[in-house]
Amino acid sequence: MNPLASPQTRRAVRAWSCRSQQRALAAAARAWLWRTLPALTRPLFAWPPIAPGATSAAAVYEPAVRSSTPVSAVLREHHGRDRFRNPWPSVGPSLTPGVLFKSVIKGEWARPGPAVVPTEPPAFLAPATADPPPDKLRATWLGQACFYLEMPSGLRVLTDPQLSERCAPPLLPSPPRVTPLPCTAADLPGVDVVVISHSHYDHLDVNSIAALVERFPGVHFLVPLGLERWFAQFGVTSVTELDWWDEREVSVGGRTGLFSCLPAQHETKRGLFDNNTTLWSSWSIDSGVRVYFSGDTGYSYVPPAPPGVDDHDMSAPVCPAFAEIGEHRGPFDLALIGIGAYQPRGRLSGVHCDPLDAVRLFRDVRARRGLAMHWGTWTLSAEPTLEPPRKLQDALVQFGMPPTGVFDVVPVGASREYAPV
Ligand code: ZN
Ligand code: ZN
Repeated sequence: MNPLASPQTRRAVRAWSCRSQQRALAAAARAWLWRTLPALTRPLFAWPPIAPGATSAAAVYEPAVRSSTPVSAVLREHHGRDRFRNPWPSVGPSLTPGVLFKSVIKGEWARPGPAVVPTEPPAFLAPATADPPPDKLRATWLGQACFYLEMPSGLRVLTDPQLSERCAPPLLPSPPRVTPLPCTAADLPGVDVVVISHSHYDHLDVNSIAALVERFPGVHFLVPLGLERWFAQFGVTSVTELDWWDEREVSVGGRTGLFSCLPAQHETKRGLFDNNTTLWSSWSIDSGVRVYFSGDTGYSYVPPAPPGVDDHDMSAPVCPAFAEIGEHRGPFDLALIGIGAYQPRGRLSGVHCDPLDAVRLFRDVRARRGLAMHWGTWTLSAEPTLEPPRKLQDALVQFGMPPTGVFDVVPVGASREYAPV
């Protein structure tokens, strides 16, 4: 008798077929939910609406002569099947909700005590219509990753505007600022272009965007892929979204800058299910001087180490994008680089630089001068609030650089000026 034709075998085959169909259906349902939930939950994280629509005063076009790019710009390995990804081993394992929960239970995210971060009231140049234009870049740190850049060309650029008290989804309470808000959009003399590095709440703040659009209706936003839709839901259409290594010339009232969207090692998330549905980036801004803005980025992942142990591993893989940026867009007159939000290192080193990582990144991108950012504004990690500036000086000395005068830390609200080299 043919065993395949027995009733038991036929029943087993039918049961197996039924189970595999159920598994296929479940997988299809999971894939559909994974694709659809970000869109369904997006309105929850889009409040409040921005009332006025912006009409860009900027002309945005591809440069006639394109800059060189590395092979990675063609391979586009950061484009996953339906999400973006970091295509390098230097990012380490991602921080899943389960790992984060265990890490919190173990006390790895203990909040540091209060600290007094130096601040000073910001002072800006005359409006850009002043004649003649300034011959230097004036960079003013407004906290976190927000810099107001008055370029020698007269172009006024704002990075990751954070000009409100909030740093959280609209339905949740915001952590308090460590330092008071240095100024609001109303205090700025003018803004032509805003560059956004990614969607996290400490970098993309809806209240700040609303205030900027209302105060400067001609402002133009440059964003990484996927974020144009976030602006469009508020009626803000003066937005250009770019992929890594894309570049655009932006001209406002005769003042022109060349902007490159560049890689960074990070991730994005704004709602419950939208992990990495929008891209993250760093930027170069060239308008009389050349500035590198790191956004949020890691440099080299290190696994968890016992407290007090130096966990830096110079043989661990580093993100190769920064050497490529230095080769193809450097050297830079000024680099704005994050030095905070690195503790616990075993969880955050893949996505945030600590001061030693920041110095290595500074060298890779071929920057002549640096300014530190992403510390002393909100307490979002476990290191003592005043530790990043101290560790930056140690790291500079470790690399044979002067502790001050090259890669500096300034008070929130302070300005520094840089002449083009
Ligand atoms: Zn971030
Ligand atoms: Zn951040």
